[in-house]
Amino acid sequence: MLGLMQDWPLLMHTVLDHAAIQHPKREVVSRSVEGPFHRTDYATIRARALRVAQRLVRDGIKPGDRVATLAWNTWRHLEAWYGIAGAGAVYHTVNPRLFQDQITWIMNHAGSRIMMLDLTFVPLVQALADKLPTVERFVILTDAAHMPQTTLPNAVAYEDWIAEVDGDFAWMKVDEQSAAGICYTSGTTGDPKGVVYSHRSNVIHAMVCNQVDAFGLGAADRVMPVVPMFHANGWSLALCAPMVGAGLVMPGAKLDGASVHELVERERVTFSAAVPTVWMMLLQHMEATGSRIDSLQRVAIGGSACPAAITKMYQEKYGVRVIHAWGMTELSPVGTLFSVKPEVSHLSGDDMLRLQAKQGTPPYTVEMKITDDEGKEQPWDGETFGRLKVKGPAIARRYFRREEEEILDEQGFFDTGDVATMDENGYMEITDRSKDVIKSGGEWISSIALENAAVGYPGVAEAAVVSMKDPKWDERPLLILVMKPGVLSPTLAQMRDFLADKVAKWWLPDDLVVVDEIPHTATGKILKTKLREMFKDHRPAA
Ligand code: ADP
Repeated sequence: MLGLMQDWPLLMHTVLDHAAIQHPKREVVSRSVEGPFHRTDYATIRARALRVAQRLVRDGIKPGDRVATLAWNTWRHLEAWYGIAGAGAVYHTVNPRLFQDQITWIMNHAGSRIMMLDLTFVPLVQALADKLPTVERFVILTDAAHMPQTTLPNAVAYEDWIAEVDGDFAWMKVDEQSAAGICYTSGTTGDPKGVVYSHRSNVIHAMVCNQVDAFGLGAADRVMPVVPMFHANGWSLALCAPMVGAGLVMPGAKLDGASVHELVERERVTFSAAVPTVWMMLLQHMEATGSRIDSLQRVAIGGSACPAAITKMYQEKYGVRVIHAWGMTELSPVGTLFSVKPEVSHLSGDDMLRLQAKQGTPPYTVEMKITDDEGKEQPWDGETFGRLKVKGPAIARRYFRREEEEILDEQGFFDTGDVATMDENGYMEITDRSKDVIKSGGEWISSIALENAAVGYPGVAEAAVVSMKDPKWDERPLLILVMKPGVLSPTLAQMRDFLADKVAKWWLPDDLVVVDEIPHTATGKILKTKLREMFKDHRPAA
């Protein structure tokens, strides 16, 4: 027997429709790429997104076609997302921080027919344009007054382009399982992989993120997504905020400490989200200028582990609650968030900070397990590491144009490539990437834990740990250091002494090398593949 409820497809436009009906005047403020602040509201955004959809259809865009955006967070980018999805097409966010070859590869792989780009990126795209055969037209996200001279084919100013239609258009009716967006992983491990979000997964994910123990947004919030919309589905905030009628404060191209601070103060931001580096820069700015951020109530921090020192400063000095979160492109992207369950509410001070250094617990819709290499589930004791695997309605089951490749295990779980512990209360802590973990005598050593301990040594600027081949133990840790200028590097014996009370004895590195520089990915993560290649023949001296 079936239920007798209505069939109401979870389509992205329903979110914007709701915002425009219930919260028509709620503000969306942006620092425009041209410079001045720009103010609009949800009713206007919806009206203009309808024009985008209508204009795309007039340019011949069909359901399922990809339309790329190479843009900062602004009101126009928001209109573009809803307009593209509302035409039944698929927004493809391109990360401008990738290397040029990667951008070309991704664009051609996605086969986007139109590209919408900010003024900032016109020189970059002009240099690539003849390698982008699928793109028929370039829409520059600006008005006629700011339109640059450009050699880009069929280039048009966005404002002129949408002014050619009247907005009398009905959102395209597509199945809720249809593709709405594509975001490529940054390719830390091999070719970038296209993750294809559906309307349904996007809407469900935003509802999950809006729960009280997640982002907990409401109509009184002023949300500033510092995390770019081109990074991991913009952490879903372009859906979360309009869904509950929260205002939006879009930072445009300026993400430095002073600019972020100015926005928070000027626009009375209550909630924000970004990677730890952004929060570090804001902190440095406030410490240097003696300024504060009194309107800000909570920040979501993720993308890499949030150091306890940052959490402590924000919470204790500035009164901002830190929501440590973990996720990845394949998870839409949020997989866990930190909140205080009653089981741990007795903790305080450093004990609570230690727990907050964990990445939190999975919300409803994220099933989670940790397993060994054979797929056997590991206990939730807070100590045993395992491969972290997840299952849920907003988690990838295939990559774009790699449909033959099975990425789920027999129970339908996706292997995240991360290694983690789970504790008895369900709190997850990332201990490594599975490719980086050092497998010594059948036991696993966390390269991240070793790195974190080693950077505590005076004068160490950066530390990385990779494995060395070892005849007896299979793999053993090699510590690679960059020293601060003019500082003498430690000997292996000195470093081992220093680490002795911080990690297990059998974790201590078997050798140490000092380099001028450690290679990084375009998104600032240590490039372990390159390091492994550089040191593949390295063996300890004795
Ligand atoms: P990529 O996998 O291409 O680097 P993502 O942006 O999808 O791009 O990165 C996801 C990865 O970032 C996760 O698999 C995890 O290793 C890391 N990560 C994300 N959030 C955290 C966090 N809070 N703590 C530690 N690592 C994190």
